[in-house]
Amino acid sequence: MTMEAASTQRTHQSLWDVARPGRSGIRLPESDVPAQAMPEASLLRDELRLPEVSELDVVRHFTRLSQMNFAVDTNFYPLGSCTMKYNPKINDVVASQAGFSGIHPLQPEETVQGALELMHRLQEDLQAVTGMPASSLAPLAGAHGELAGVLMIKAYHDARGESDRKVMLIPDSAHGTNPASAAMGGFEVVSVPSDEMGRVDLAAVEAACDDRLAGLMITIPNTLGLFNPYIARVCELVHGAGGLVYGDGANMNALLGRARPYDLGFDVVHLNLHKTMSTPHGGGGPGAGPVCVGERLEPYLPSPVVERVDADGGARYRFATPTQSIGAMSAGHGNFGVLVRAYTYLRALGADGLRQASGDAVLNANYLRRKLEHVYRVAVDRTCMHEVVFSCRPQRDKGVKALDISKRMIDYGVHPPTMYFPLIVDEALMVEPTETESKETLDAFIAVMEAIAREVEESPDVLLEAPHFTPVGRLDEARAARQPDLRWQAP
Ligand SMILES: *Cc1c(COP(=O)(O)O)cnc(C)c1O
Repeated sequence: MTMEAASTQRTHQSLWDVARPGRSGIRLPESDVPAQAMPEASLLRDELRLPEVSELDVVRHFTRLSQMNFAVDTNFYPLGSCTMKYNPKINDVVASQAGFSGIHPLQPEETVQGALELMHRLQEDLQAVTGMPASSLAPLAGAHGELAGVLMIKAYHDARGESDRKVMLIPDSAHGTNPASAAMGGFEVVSVPSDEMGRVDLAAVEAACDDRLAGLMITIPNTLGLFNPYIARVCELVHGAGGLVYGDGANMNALLGRARPYDLGFDVVHLNLHKTMSTPHGGGGPGAGPVCVGERLEPYLPSPVVERVDADGGARYRFATPTQSIGAMSAGHGNFGVLVRAYTYLRALGADGLRQASGDAVLNANYLRRKLEHVYRVAVDRTCMHEVVFSCRPQRDKGVKALDISKRMIDYGVHPPTMYFPLIVDEALMVEPTETESKETLDAFIAVMEAIAREVEESPDVLLEAPHFTPVGRLDEARAARQPDLRWQAP
């Protein structure tokens, strides 16, 4: 067998290939309790099909699988909008302390005062970052925070006897979760176009401002990585018509310590703690999407919120439900482990560190923009914030799609950027380098992108078949979506 064949075989090996009857990785002590009668036979399986393997087999198997994974801990991961920045390990160390990881959501409040204090402090820190007077840590993801936000907007209008306000304006550059959340909240989604500078079209917002307007959901900076200098005016228009403004705070990485959504005119904003506040994410979670609100929405916050009560014996903390709360977002109090990581991150950086993080994030994105604009078309030619969107339309005209370019990046050890989003950019590649990458890493990425641009000219076939060096090549994505095989079974 060639070496290459041997390594491919290892890659595709399952534990069944190394299993041998009777082999075991553990030795159980003699049972010191009397044997019990078996349940009735109809409840029992004939055999439990599990591979019989040694401890070393198991260690090698899972270590090998872990190495097939792409991670920000191994390589550059410029996945736009997702903010795959480096997550300092101290966050995990703190979250795994027994006093945090070993507690139960239903434990009496007196026995978890430290955890409640941490949640209360995090609420205050997030309020400081957003400028908002109140917050709830309950939502479990960004999209979940959006749902909480639109339900609060609905509750606000209902309480004022204005249930006819049904229209939610959403710019055409929005993340798909925005219209989905608005629709789940019972609103009619009206899409607002962007102008040629990538900003929401002011005249279109103005035209939609009438007594059916419930609000506007807008991302700042938007998904083109662009700040909207007229954002305060946009908020004024919406408020003037009796609507409220929802801020998708997934891009807060660009604003930390520099601009506060409250000051810009927002009524509610969610934060993606797993993105901006450095929690490992990807593959579906876990995340946290706390909502921070202005005075108008404070009574409607989802429960619970954590309150501080100053008593004789010092401060005490307790869960509370706001007067007109939209209710609980889940069975628990939020994704506590993610909250601990976010608090640790905020405390480790402090106000100065957060300000530097946003400055470096924006600098890094603009460095890539300027260094790559001679080979890739910049979607909107303006100074960007923390991410930059390229359009591979010129490459497409030569027969190479944004998808092919992304697949080729994997061969060079780079995670592909977000592709085909925002939807308003043809052949989009959305690159977010984050503040945690060095100039050397960015320069290496620039060299990769230049090399790929040369391949588009000289050897496009290499791109069409990429990736060449991964355990699996191009997947049949349509089939994976239509006929997912979610249950692996022993052969
Ligand atoms: C990631 C993201 C969301 C959704 O957040 P989840 O935590 O994935 O639910 C919403 N809007 C924008 C702009 C995002 O980048």
